[in-house]
Amino acid sequence: MKFYSFAFGCRVNEAEKEALDKQLLNEGMIFDEKNPDIFIINTCSVTQKAEREARNLIYQTKRKLPNTKIVITGCAATYWQKNNLYKDLPIDLLVDNLNKEFLAKIIKKRLFQSSQFDLRGRQWTDKTIQNQLISSKFLSSKRMMVKIQDGCQRFCSFCIVPYLRGLPKSYKIKEIVKYINSLNNQKNNHKDKKCHPELVSGSHFSEVILTAINTEAFGYDTGESFIDLIDEIIKKTSIPRISFGSIHPWSINSQFINFYQKILTVNRLVNFFHIPLQSGSNAILKIMKRGYTREEFLEKLENLKKINPYLFLATDIIVGFLEETEKEFEETYEFLEKSPLSRFHIFRFSKRQNTAAYYLAKKLKEPTVEEKKKRAKILKTLSDKKFSLFQEKNLGRFSNALILNKKENDFYEGLLDNQLPVFISTDKKIQPGDIIKVKVEKINSGKLIAKMI
Ligand code: SF4
Repeated sequence: MKFYSFAFGCRVNEAEKEALDKQLLNEGMIFDEKNPDIFIINTCSVTQKAEREARNLIYQTKRKLPNTKIVITGCAATYWQKNNLYKDLPIDLLVDNLNKEFLAKIIKKRLFQSSQFDLRGRQWTDKTIQNQLISSKFLSSKRMMVKIQDGCQRFCSFCIVPYLRGLPKSYKIKEIVKYINSLNNQKNNHKDKKCHPELVSGSHFSEVILTAINTEAFGYDTGESFIDLIDEIIKKTSIPRISFGSIHPWSINSQFINFYQKILTVNRLVNFFHIPLQSGSNAILKIMKRGYTREEFLEKLENLKKINPYLFLATDIIVGFLEETEKEFEETYEFLEKSPLSRFHIFRFSKRQNTAAYYLAKKLKEPTVEEKKKRAKILKTLSDKKFSLFQEKNLGRFSNALILNKKENDFYEGLLDNQLPVFISTDKKIQPGDIIKVKVEKINSGKLIAKMI
């Protein structure tokens, strides 16, 4: 039985996809991109656009591979199931978020043995961590993605995620450390199987990427802390680089800032934090129910930057949220311009059924599609400008770099110790996943160029 899988959306989705791949390989299935018997899509529901993309992929796949069974899971699939929006889709199986971790078994039972498989009442257990897998997308450069937490208790007014993923659930620190070590020390036992091509290169990892829906909620249910998790990974694993998919604003408190200062010299935590802000206007942040002001957010950023001026800070911004007039948009623009944030991912607001914003939209004013488009474009230009400025700031720096892949003419693509992309020239023999020392020399056509030293 051959399978292929694809994940939309956040890094948690990507990590889940790879966990599923591993489960399917363990069930004896074979990875096949071109002509799979089953195609599994881990969907995203954060915006209407994300849902549209998932629907398009489903239809395209059905047209291209009419005999392939299509399985959907993830946030959009859960949303469609709850709201009865999936009946027209040419799918063979829908598995909601609650049952996602048993997907491999469900596929086997439901699609290939036709017996009923009732999973209601199954619980999240420590054992499920064993079913996670390094990401194939990241695997070729020896980066493993590990999901540490799921769910969220925040209920930001625009967000559908807590309704689809439920309340916070965390893996135990001990299990996460054990899992990382088990992958890092694992001998390649997939050589004889047709699987991810990257798996054949073995498994000594250079980076672990910790992914969570909300890092703040890590340990709420287990009584552990996010800082202790990082500390334990530093102490009990030999992975040279540790990074996060995102780190959420409520995790950046004084303990975290002190901890960051303390471990800076250890040089293992990647100096890149993606911290979702969502708006630079206090009035909008309040309607979003984010629980902080722009001043508080800025203070966190500045304290981090004081410790390390080369820390790369990025964020998510929603434009066109309810009541965002030109005035609030300008406040966001001005905040982003002055803040130490060097890259923003911009989303255009779209109402998600059942969220607070969905109901608030009945009485609050929502910007038009054109206004949202225009604002997104303006912020993208600002993001590009700030990113270039940060690249310039890195000129002349010595840093380590993780090699991602080889380009032509003795050029390699890599990531600096603050995750800035860099092109490295060297005639030495280096491999994806290697960590080398470089000096950043110049910018060429918008790309940082470094030489190996
Ligand atoms: S913190 Fe807010 S935006 Fe993030 S998942 Fe939770 S509710 Fe959604």
